[in-house]
Amino acid sequence: MVMTTLTIITGDQLSPDIASLQAIERGRDHVLMAELSDEVEYVRHHVKKIVLIFSAMRHFARKLEETGHRVHYHRFDPAARVRSFSDAVAAHCDRHRIDEIVVTWPGEWRVFDEFNRLEKTLGIPVRMLDDDRFVSTPGEFAEWADGRKSLRMEFFYRLMRKRTGLLMDEQGEPEGGQWNFDAENRKKWKGRPAAASPMSFAPDEITREVIELVRSHIDGFGELDGFDFGVTPEQARRSLAHFVKTGLASFGDYQDALPDDEDYLFHSRLSAYLNIGLLGPLEVCEAVEQAWRDDLVPLNSAEGYIRQIIGWREFIRGIYWHEMPGYADRNHLGGDQALPEWYWSGQTGMRCLHRAIENTRANAYAHHIQRLMVTGNFALLLGVRPAEICEWYLAVYADAFEWVELPNTLGMVMFGDGGLLASKPYAASGKYIQRMGDHCANCRYAVTERTGEDGCPFNALYWDFLMRNEKVLGDNPRMRMMYRNVERLAPAEKAAITKRANWIRENVEAL
Ligand SMILES: Cc1cc2nc3c(=O)[nH]c(=O)nc-3n(C[C@H](O)[C@H](O)[C@H](O)COP(=O)(O)OP(=O)(O)OC[C@H]3O[C@@H](n4cnc5c(N)ncnc54)[C@H](O)[C@@H]3O)c2cc1C
Ligand code: SF4
Repeated sequence: MVMTTLTIITGDQLSPDIASLQAIERGRDHVLMAELSDEVEYVRHHVKKIVLIFSAMRHFARKLEETGHRVHYHRFDPAARVRSFSDAVAAHCDRHRIDEIVVTWPGEWRVFDEFNRLEKTLGIPVRMLDDDRFVSTPGEFAEWADGRKSLRMEFFYRLMRKRTGLLMDEQGEPEGGQWNFDAENRKKWKGRPAAASPMSFAPDEITREVIELVRSHIDGFGELDGFDFGVTPEQARRSLAHFVKTGLASFGDYQDALPDDEDYLFHSRLSAYLNIGLLGPLEVCEAVEQAWRDDLVPLNSAEGYIRQIIGWREFIRGIYWHEMPGYADRNHLGGDQALPEWYWSGQTGMRCLHRAIENTRANAYAHHIQRLMVTGNFALLLGVRPAEICEWYLAVYADAFEWVELPNTLGMVMFGDGGLLASKPYAASGKYIQRMGDHCANCRYAVTERTGEDGCPFNALYWDFLMRNEKVLGDNPRMRMMYRNVERLAPAEKAAITKRANWIRENVEAL
């Protein structure tokens, strides 16, 4: 008897060569894709993120049908009884005889758990395949991580460089004689060279239909007008080529810059395409390496970019699957403050935060330094409950899926895992933000002041953060310098800092 297999393709698995599509027989087996209320509602996603995913799903489904796949597509309907993957699969299996379900390892623990439960609830065997769109698997990461005292991205990255051969010379040594050129990547941008912008696409008919659907039925975060993401692999590839041509050469030098009037500067805006499967990490890295081999971009840019993808991106995913499900509940520094309401509205007089949130609301995007050193740093210094800030990041960015959002937020930003991911918290005062850009010149607060009424809130909160957490962080060798500076503060200054920080915490909504 012929067996029929069902595969489920989630909204972040839009790659024609994904493992589960390779495992089924085109034309005979079934492909199920579903726009689901539970997926729309589990956090208050940015409306542009929802449009991107639904539109890319619809384009992908059409392509699969054109190439002979039997696609069953469930369109979003807020009143539908089918709300979750389990509902959609159960409804499908009621109507069709399905002998086996095949899925590719999903991007979030809650979906992983849901898929694993299907076998028991439906009595149909479920086979989960590794997601080979990544360079490494959770199993390989565990092998590398187990038995190590600390997990550092740099060492994992070197392994990935050797594994892929990216930027390696014929003797098996890193090109340029160094693994990492980060020290060259910290320049302040002063308006030259001119900023690049990501490639922009006018919505086609399918996207316009999804925009109307979202406008009428979904109360999400952020602004819907001006949707300009690509929604097909071809458009994502054009965006990559555009970035390599216009942004990559300066990516390295200005990777950490914080300009007041540029939303992207030389960042690529490729993360959302990578995370939903329109681009593969290796094709991106190979295009970047080729640009360097063709002498079009300097090595610090090419290496810096490739490190983000096969270093940070892979490392972060490894941490997620190694540490879940308990990881999400960690709170090493005991943060207990509510997330300020203005994280959703952007209405704060602190210019750096206002600009980062304005970018977020408008574009479902903020670049890494805005996420890490502005919105993230402030939440860390204020002592926000990690779960609240994690939910915010998961909602507001087009590229946000828990496997990548959670370790970045809970681990890198909030130090909630006690140093598993980062050797020290990325805590910084206003001085850092001033050094890396020109927000402070446009701010109502004085970046040079620590405790006065007009003093930059980052300043008092920074010193207060160090003092409050001295028991937990004081012995960290990488924080010795910071604590030496704390020791130099006179008792009266310490008292003034505590007073101002307490005032900020009590009046944070008015800042
Ligand atoms: C608090 C916080 C939350 C974050 N949440 C997400 C998230 O939900 N999804 C997400 O893709 N990235 C996340 N990042 C990482 C990073 O900020 C974004 O990948 C990046 O800003 C996306 O913009 P870009 O494509 O222009 O990146 P570029 O600056 O052009 O970087 C190139 C690529 O490198 C990868 N990359 C760079 N840094 C990281 C990193 N730390 N972790 C994983 N990949 C990285 C991305 O794929 C990115 O597209 C987060 C960072 C922080 C500090
Ligand atoms: S002064 Fe402080 S709050 Fe204002 S932009 Fe600078 S760092 Fe941000």
